[in-house]
Amino acid sequence: MYYKKYLSKLKGWVFALINGVLPPRCPVSGRIVDRVGSLSAESWGSLTFIGSPFCKCCGMPFQIVEEDADRQKDGPSNQLCGPCLSSPKPFTRARSVFVYDDVSRDLILAFKHGDHTHLTVTFAPLLLKAADEMLDRADVIIPVPLHWTRLVKRRYNQAALLARALASKTGIGFQPYVLKRVRSTPPQGHKSARDRHENVRKAFVVVPEKSDMIAGKTIVLVDDVYTTGATLEECTHALLAAGAKQVDVVTLARVVKSH
Ligand SMILES: [Zn+2]
Repeated sequence: MYYKKYLSKLKGWVFALINGVLPPRCPVSGRIVDRVGSLSAESWGSLTFIGSPFCKCCGMPFQIVEEDADRQKDGPSNQLCGPCLSSPKPFTRARSVFVYDDVSRDLILAFKHGDHTHLTVTFAPLLLKAADEMLDRADVIIPVPLHWTRLVKRRYNQAALLARALASKTGIGFQPYVLKRVRSTPPQGHKSARDRHENVRKAFVVVPEKSDMIAGKTIVLVDDVYTTGATLEECTHALLAAGAKQVDVVTLARVVKSH
């Protein structure tokens, strides 16, 4: 049992040693960059950043015809997308930095599973910008939690790293232990939207003795990817049921063609 701990320490030392000797590289393109956690110019250029117009609730970017572009470019759209019109979301609004595609998938996988936690430095200002309109009135920043078994396996929760960085940039309170994942759900993988909702149903609760930290509060919920929104909706339900006043969502990436 103990050898795992030492193996993990050894891995950390080797990683630190390699970092000290070899120049830092972009986790997407592999090109040499100025400092650890930076992206190369090529990688920046291949990310698709989400800008207006988008659904004012879920943040889904709208495809618009050219003549409407000038009219709508100044600020978020007042329109709702079809799914938000037919089935309103429990959160007030969701915003994301970039589209989840081949490039951002590599980037997020490196951040999530590849120990590239120093990418937080690159992501924090992007999240700050995407969440701009919701931070003024926010009381608490909360990450989507991992189940403890997965946390042991991965050693860190990527959503918590993002949430903590956003909290330290804004001075808003960071509460990583209020919301808890009580069911270890199978990976969402290629599940359909309906299966994803079923998969995470009642998977999250607010820790009862911490509910006074969110009662009546406006919350910013943070995750790495918005896929169908199932996980974020489930977390929002739990927070609202425990007395939160409002929940807003910010993620790094967003799946644009949801199934
Ligand atoms: Zn929408």
